[in-house]
Amino acid sequence: MAIEVQIPGPLRNYTGQQSKVQVEGGTVGEVLQNLKQAYPGIESQLYENDGSVRRFINLFVNGEDIRGQGGIDTSLKDGDKLGILPAMAGGSLGLSPEQVQRYHRHLIMPEVGSKGQRRLANATVLIVGAGGLGSPAAMYLAAAGVGKIGIADFDVVDVSNLQRQILHGVEDVGRPKTDSARDTLNRINPTVEVVAHNEPLTSANAREIISQYDVIVNGTDNFPTRYLVNDVSYWEGKPLVDGSIMRFDGQLTVYAPGFGCYRDLFPTPPPPGAVQSCAEAGVLGVLPGIIGSLQALETIKLILGVGEPMIGRMLIFDGLSFEFRELKLRKDPNCPVCGEHPTITEPVDYVEFCGLPQETALVG
Ligand SMILES: [Zn+2]
Repeated sequence: MAIEVQIPGPLRNYTGQQSKVQVEGGTVGEVLQNLKQAYPGIESQLYENDGSVRRFINLFVNGEDIRGQGGIDTSLKDGDKLGILPAMAGGSLGLSPEQVQRYHRHLIMPEVGSKGQRRLANATVLIVGAGGLGSPAAMYLAAAGVGKIGIADFDVVDVSNLQRQILHGVEDVGRPKTDSARDTLNRINPTVEVVAHNEPLTSANAREIISQYDVIVNGTDNFPTRYLVNDVSYWEGKPLVDGSIMRFDGQLTVYAPGFGCYRDLFPTPPPPGAVQSCAEAGVLGVLPGIIGSLQALETIKLILGVGEPMIGRMLIFDGLSFEFRELKLRKDPNCPVCGEHPTITEPVDYVEFCGLPQETALVG
């Protein structure tokens, strides 16, 4: 028998904006089951993970609360009207109608849902470097609805950046990268708060900046900043989503406090000149797109608390042979920063530590 289900405003994004839909069923429970089959997105709004109807959803048959009748087993006859009343004060979904529309593909995923989407909206992420890695990472995080994205970069856009740094366009050449990044991210998602840290990250300011964020994404391409960000993220207790690229190769891992750090692998930097930078050795334009996107993925997983983050593991990507390999990372009890007897407990002079002349170290 056909029952008219009255769909409240916040749920109409799941029914193609229809306020009333006809659904078959002999009881309230059957109608809801058939409703979710006809409109799959609505399921996570109506049901808990264990299959029970969510507590803030109230149901009415012909205007009468089903709790005064047979509850979910209340029987229905042809032409009955089933009303759905979600709690609205404070927002049962906690999201505006625009947000429900924008994040629809997230909201229908049990791993995200409206709870996860609110987590993303409340999250803060610092992107160190608005370059090849930082570009896709920041853009996907903005699109995903991360509430606040900090961009630490003091460079201006150069025409040679455009081959891979997709935050920036031709008209941005000569502009500060933080300005260009803000414009691009707000064009994708105007609700994201973009904070520009348009200054070099140094021993003097790194703790103050990094401490403001939940997750740190490392998109830097020089050793002094890489060690600085590693050390300070560890001291501030922040997970660090680390990526690096060169030519056709990429690496990705997540350092979480308590699970080691970059110095467990590389206690001291290679001597100056031993490792080429992208500026010297080159990088295929799409490589940072691949690794930076994976950094966005790992960041979102950390925020949502789902899946298995790349903690204690390193992904090695070889784009020429098209191989993804994984290494197990070992925590070093003798690590000078995160080991049992740390010898470095506050920021050092990283330029001197890396044995680099100042101007080399500042290439962003
Ligand atoms: Zn360590």
